[in-house]
Amino acid sequence: MTAPSTVFETMDAVDGLPDEGDFEQVAFCHHRPSGLRAIVAIHSTVLGPALGGTRFWPYDTEAEALTDVCRLARGMTYKHSAAGLDQGGGKAVIWGDPRTIRSEALIRAYGRFVHGLAGRYLTAEDVGTTQADMDLIQRETPHVTGVSPSLGGSGDPSPATAWGVLWALRAAAEVRWGSPDLAHRHITVSGVGKVGRALVDHLVDEGATVTVADIRDDAVRAVHDDHPEAASRLRTVEPGAAHAVDCDVFAPCALGAVLDERTIPELRCEVVVGSANNQLATPEDDQRLVDRDVLYVPDYVANAGGVINIAEEPAGYDQTRAWARIAGIHDTVLAVLERARTQRIPPGEAADRHAEDRIESVARVARLRTGRP
Ligand code: NAD
Repeated sequence: MTAPSTVFETMDAVDGLPDEGDFEQVAFCHHRPSGLRAIVAIHSTVLGPALGGTRFWPYDTEAEALTDVCRLARGMTYKHSAAGLDQGGGKAVIWGDPRTIRSEALIRAYGRFVHGLAGRYLTAEDVGTTQADMDLIQRETPHVTGVSPSLGGSGDPSPATAWGVLWALRAAAEVRWGSPDLAHRHITVSGVGKVGRALVDHLVDEGATVTVADIRDDAVRAVHDDHPEAASRLRTVEPGAAHAVDCDVFAPCALGAVLDERTIPELRCEVVVGSANNQLATPEDDQRLVDRDVLYVPDYVANAGGVINIAEEPAGYDQTRAWARIAGIHDTVLAVLERARTQRIPPGEAADRHAEDRIESVARVARLRTGRP
């Protein structure tokens, strides 16, 4: 196995957040016998070991894989900080098509590569990797999360993510309408996959009217089949028109970049909050939403339930404790939206500042001598 190679290191991170584009460590691995080519990007470990999933994807070039892993790792630093976790930001990619090159040897070689990083990076499931992969990785290293519940893991994070989105929605309702009550509110959920479907369950329980959209008819049908008792409060819309439904809340729970120059003028909701990653197509869309008087809950604040759940694993997973912590997303949303109001900045920017402030302040605490060796 090629030893993990440190391409560049900036120990400036001990003084807070690395500069834009700077990473504490980027490690490459090429294990010829199994065909493994992997990159681990550790953006910041100021708050704790870098946590982030492993994406298994057939990038066209190594440069493309490197750009993606760095962009994703940086995002994890912000997400974990805003969520109040003692985790830094990192991410990994395995370069190749999982349908053709996945093998026991490749995944275990990858586990050994992660082990070589000595706990500075904790891996997890992401696009292209599965819980079974995490179980295999655990045979090579303890620095893995998201293993099967029978092996001490927290299982599928999607219900936890949906639980967090619900709390984000309650907080947004409080700010917008003066009450967290969602009964009689009309919410459009675009994408009823693992997270969206679980979110609809909560919203129906809350007494809301829910319009759902999905490119898969069977996914839409499943939601209606789940709730015969609420048939009069469940509607369907074409996926392409979901953002333009006249409703209280638009909840993007499918793909990213749904809010852009074209869709924002067409919104007929007062609040946007959902699980999808990277909902804003460009940073300018943050201000565009303010200009339309639409209250936007930054995606990485709203969808942190999954990582909060996973971060409970090293201490011995307990669902009651984890879900109580996820409900704290409510207070984080209130704090971010209050910062946006008082500093007259859009919510996305307020979330970034909130995350950066916490990293800077915790970094200063780390300078205190404790007497520990
Ligand atoms: P999923 O694949 O289970 O569900 C996505 C659903 O969206 C599918 O049913 C798909 O058919 C549908 N879809 C795709 N394109 C669509 C479109 N244009 N319009 C409407 N529907 C469309 O994924 P998921 O795990 O439910 O995740 C949903 C989103 O939340 C993703 O952006 C994901 O990155 C993000 N997220 C998920 C988690 C988690 O715990 N699963 C955590 C954080 C963020």
